[in-house]
Amino acid sequence: MEREALRVEGLRKRYGGLEVLAGVDLSLKEGEILALLGPSGSGKTTLLRIVAGLERPDAGRVYLFGQDVTHLPPERRGLGVVFQDYALFPHLTAWENVAFGLKGPRRREKALAALERVGLTLFKDRRPHELSGGQQQRVALARALAPGPRVVLLDEPFSSLDAGLRAATREEVRTILKGLGTAALLVTHDQEEALSFADRIGVLRGGRLEQVGTPEEVYLRPRTPFVAQFLGQTN
Ligand code: ADP
Repeated sequence: MEREALRVEGLRKRYGGLEVLAGVDLSLKEGEILALLGPSGSGKTTLLRIVAGLERPDAGRVYLFGQDVTHLPPERRGLGVVFQDYALFPHLTAWENVAFGLKGPRRREKALAALERVGLTLFKDRRPHELSGGQQQRVALARALAPGPRVVLLDEPFSSLDAGLRAATREEVRTILKGLGTAALLVTHDQEEALSFADRIGVLRGGRLEQVGTPEEVYLRPRTPFVAQFLGQTN
């Protein structure tokens, strides 16, 4: 049986008078890709930041492989994260950025192997400003994957890419994650992205999960009018 990589139970979060998460339960299996889909302001990023340990929930628990990590700091959760505010260091080269969080004598080899996995070997000595947006995104992914996390968190990972690159990059990243057996929880407001990238989709609305299911289930058998409307619209 596949193990449970991540589980959140009863997560609640308020900012002042605003209820951002209203009791969210969710589970992610080992190696599974789950997309949190919902309109702007529905609580997707807050949920991801709580899982990362960057925000504290008002109530609820976060488990990684059965261990309660609710009160562990981010660096002790063993997660890979690709967030907007985890930007690359501008003064370091691609490989130095990837090696930054690694330890031990083989950190250079490990960093280069991670860059190779994302197809950036030729760009290893470039600094972020000498790379395209898509290449920077891949360096960030290589950095997240280099320590060998079993779960990665991705916040709108493809949103900075232009439309032509997005589908291809998505497919590459999916292949990399599946090859490594790394579970991923990603945030997106793009229904097409969720449908093509994820094994399961959780649709958030106003801090509640309206439906969690495979792309086929949520698309063909939406459980609420909101899910039907949100999945049906195209950008
Ligand atoms: P999403 O990622 O779905 O767009 P967010 O989780 O970023 O939604 O935000 C949900 C709501 O919480 C929004 O209304 C946002 O303005 C509010 N919010 C998020 N972070 C904070 C914060 N640190 N302080 C106050 N309000 C916040």
